Amino acid sequence: MAAMRPEILFPLFRPIASLKGVGPKIAPLMAKVAGERVRDLAFLLPSGVVDRRYQPKIIDAEPGRLATLRVRIVGHQPSQNRRQPYRVVATDVTGEIALVFFHATRPYLEKLLPPGEERLVSGMVEEYRGQLQITHPDHIVSLEEVDDLPLVEPVYPLTAGLTARTLRKAVDQAAAILPELPEWLNGPLQRQHGWPAWADALRAAHAPQSPEDLEPMASARRRLAYDELLANQLALVLVRAKQKRRPGPVIPAGDLAAKAVDLLPFALTGSQRQALAEIGGDLASGQRMQRLLQGDVGSGKTIVALLAMLEAVAAGGQAALMAPTEILVRQHAETIAPIAEQLGLKAVVLTGRDKGKARDRLVEDIANGLAPLVLGTHALVQDSVQFHNLTLVVVDEQHRFGVDQRMVLTDKARGGCHTLVMTATPIPRTLMLTAYGDLDWSRLIEKPAGRKPVDTRVVPANRLSDVVEGLERRLAAGGKAYWVCPLVEESESVDLAAAEERFASLHARFGDRIGLIHGRMRGADKEAVMQAFTDGPVQLLVATTVIEVGVNVPDATIMVIEHAERFGLAQLHQLRGRVGRGSEASTCVLLYHPPLGVTAKARLETLRNTDDGFAIAEQDLKLRGAGEVLGTKQSGLPAFRLADLEHHADLLPIARDDARIIVETDPDLASERGQALRTLLYLFEQDAAVRYAKVG
Ligand code: ADP
Ligand code: MG
Repeated sequence: MAAMRPEILFPLFRPIASLKGVGPKIAPLMAKVAGERVRDLAFLLPSGVVDRRYQPKIIDAEPGRLATLRVRIVGHQPSQNRRQPYRVVATDVTGEIALVFFHATRPYLEKLLPPGEERLVSGMVEEYRGQLQITHPDHIVSLEEVDDLPLVEPVYPLTAGLTARTLRKAVDQAAAILPELPEWLNGPLQRQHGWPAWADALRAAHAPQSPEDLEPMASARRRLAYDELLANQLALVLVRAKQKRRPGPVIPAGDLAAKAVDLLPFALTGSQRQALAEIGGDLASGQRMQRLLQGDVGSGKTIVALLAMLEAVAAGGQAALMAPTEILVRQHAETIAPIAEQLGLKAVVLTGRDKGKARDRLVEDIANGLAPLVLGTHALVQDSVQFHNLTLVVVDEQHRFGVDQRMVLTDKARGGCHTLVMTATPIPRTLMLTAYGDLDWSRLIEKPAGRKPVDTRVVPANRLSDVVEGLERRLAAGGKAYWVCPLVEESESVDLAAAEERFASLHARFGDRIGLIHGRMRGADKEAVMQAFTDGPVQLLVATTVIEVGVNVPDATIMVIEHAERFGLAQLHQLRGRVGRGSEASTCVLLYHPPLGVTAKARLETLRNTDDGFAIAEQDLKLRGAGEVLGTKQSGLPAFRLADLEHHADLLPIARDDARIIVETDPDLASERGQALRTLLYLFEQDAAVRYAKVG
């Protein structure tokens, strides 16, 4: 039976356009702040509240406070000229206040505020020339309509073109149709924390009675956070359990890797040797390796991967390395192929660009085992690619791949397969849990010997011409440089325009020594530019952030980053990691446009002061908060909507243990709670895990 979303969730997965008041114009704006489905609106938690509970008498009303006043309208004073506002005078037994309006007509205001009648008026109290006033009150209601005046009003994140009112109405509708889902929480845990049922918790989150209800520690908020963390951990544990249930091929230590080490022009670092020992232990154990290799940019992960792959090959198997982009695959190939050749081994590269007969030949070599070493992009997961005897899969920068893509590849191994995941994301262990669950973990802490720290300079943009002068001198001496243009908006075409403009102005000066690379280029063109940068004649490479991940040109020693204040800390660190890879001293110039905000300044200073990826990650967490760090593409970690790891991190190990016990006692999710947990998984779109673990 195909795994399918339970029917009870259907209303939540309808498009937001199915809600009243959400037309074709509004829907994309809402999709931007929340997502495309009704569920996404329901999960859009208020970012704050407007608190109107302060209800003083006029005489006590403090200027500068938001107040709700019960007043009687005593008179209208229409404006005498254009610059003067329209004033409506209102009183209670203690005093008088003016309600002030600009550009309002008399008939409109007399209807809204009829003289002699009582009204509830809510807005910011001000003092003007010794008199109290409220300019454009937020709410004016009659005493009968008192229920329409929200004393605690949730506030949602907005985007240009979307009004608070429209969004609020849509969210209210989403909250109103929440189905009562079967309880998936473990009873004792729920009672211990006093957590409400799921739908109640979500409704409460949208109808705060006080600002405290929105605090991350509020019971409803914690329950919702726990649900999300549990779905995340359960998915990971299910997948892991399925993989662990089967034994892995036994790969004893051979001598091929040792021979390769002799061919290297350098000695391995202690960290690299340590990681290899850990990997070797896994490969020989008879159990499937599930290991994460974490190392900062430039720490030398590729060599570790190659040596592990050679162990697999020496034992008669095939090893595959999958990387997210064509350029990265080629770069790995540049390291791996020459060594493979010296060892008499065939390494093939398969990417989306290979077509026709040439592709057929590659696929054939992979299928009959002629090619023991296989490198590729996600092209490797295609059905038509079959292996002769795949025993090790290495996945580089895996966050660019879905978990399911990784699983499809490892499933191509008939006799079971070891997995090594490589990542440069320097994230603390607890946060790693959310992305990788309980993978075993090796870390490359040492940098290869002989690396000189990158001299990092923070330079205002008005000194651009000095920077270009300096660049000219370095290029004349044979140096190579990157020039990174920033992400201007979420739009690639705008980024591209900025990069092209910079390219044009630098081209006027540097001529053929300059190249341009960006995300919109075809694979072959990108590669040609990279080739020209690696081997000449290009010495200055203008790039959008496509070079962010993994690119390795050791003799590039200068990195200029324009609008550095717009980049995140982790991203700047990744970019800077492109230089300082050879023995030459390198420079990184962070060009910024003043004035710098406080956090932007702190970011650039952190970067100038340290090149330790972990220190930078920690600083990043401090400056931005876990939620945001986790939410970014660069982090490679899942973005949570309801959980805020800064405040809910304590729930993560509880969710992990919960998930482990569930999978141990009810691996097929067959019990009543198991059924409810399936609903939870679908609610958080963990469909891939459900399918893979065959519990749907
Ligand atoms: P990353 O961890 O960022 O993927 P790479 O594997 O691309 O790093 O290695 C970066 C550079 O360091 C490569 O040029 C590689 O040949 C070199 N390298 C790797 N290990 C060592 C070492 N132990 N000593 C010196 N250079 C090394
Ligand atoms: Mg790399």
